[in-house]
Amino acid sequence: MMESPWPNGEKCVVCLTVDFDGPSVEVGEEKVAPLGAHSHGRYSAKCGLPRFAAMFGRQAVPFTLFVPGYDAELYPDLIRELAGAGVEIGAHGYLHEGEDPGEREAELLERTHRILTWLAGRPPCGWRAPSGFKCARTMRKLKSLGYCYDSSDKDFDLPYLAYFDGRENEDYVCLPNNTSSLDDYPFHALSLVPPSEILMQWRQEFDAIYAEGGYFNLTLHPRAGYGSGRPARVALVEQLIEYMKGYEGVAFCSMETLARWCLAHPENFRRRWAAESGTRPV
Ligand SMILES: [Zn+2]
Repeated sequence: MMESPWPNGEKCVVCLTVDFDGPSVEVGEEKVAPLGAHSHGRYSAKCGLPRFAAMFGRQAVPFTLFVPGYDAELYPDLIRELAGAGVEIGAHGYLHEGEDPGEREAELLERTHRILTWLAGRPPCGWRAPSGFKCARTMRKLKSLGYCYDSSDKDFDLPYLAYFDGRENEDYVCLPNNTSSLDDYPFHALSLVPPSEILMQWRQEFDAIYAEGGYFNLTLHPRAGYGSGRPARVALVEQLIEYMKGYEGVAFCSMETLARWCLAHPENFRRRWAAESGTRPV
C-alpha cells in the first residue's frame, strides 16, 4: 500500500457531514410555504438535527454542519447551541440555490456568511454547494471571504488543491463528496431501500476505501423525506460509526480539521495523485 497521506499515518480518514436542508429547500426551489406536505425541512430543526447531535455526542465523534443562511435565520438558537458545543458550521447557500444565481451570487454568499458568523461566533471557512452548482466566480468570492475549503465536487477520491483562474490555489482545498453512494439522498428519495440495505452499502464502501487507505466523506440530511433524521435512519448511521470504530487507524475529524491539515501538507497528496492517476486532479 502507498505511504499514508493522513495526519498520524492513519489508514483512513472519516468526515461525517450534515447538510441542514431545512425549509430553505421548499421556499427557495419550489416557492411554496414549508407547511403540510412541504414541511419535511422543518423536521430537520425540530427532530432530525437534535437527534443527530445527540447521537454524535454519544459516539464522541465530530461532525460538520452545512447550513443555508435562511435556515439559520429561522432557527438561530439551534445554530448557536451547536456551534457553542463545538460543531463546525459551514455555509450551504442562502435559500439553497439549486441553479446559478448569476450576479446575485456575491450578495447571497456574503449574506449567509454574515449570518453564520454572527450566530456561530466565528466565520465559516468551508462551503458546500446546495445542489452542486459552482463556478470559478463562486470560488473567487468564497476565497475573498476567507474560506479555505469547498466540498462540492464529485470528481476524485482524495482531497486536492483547488484549481481555478488558471492556477492551483495553495490556500484552498477541495474535499470532494460522493452524492451517489455516500449520500443518504438517493437511498431515501430514489431507491427507497430499508435502512438495513443502506447500512450494508455503506459498510462495503468503507471496507473498500479503508483498503485503499482513503477518505470516507458521508453526506447526511436531518430532514424527514429524503433525509435521515427519523429514528431508524439515525440508528443506522450510529451502527455504521460503531462498525468503522472497530477498525484500526481510523481518524474521525471535522472538515475544517482535515482541510487545514491538507493545506499544511499538500506534498502528501501530490504523491498519492502521481501514484494513482499519473496526474494532478484539475
Ligand atoms: Zn442541501
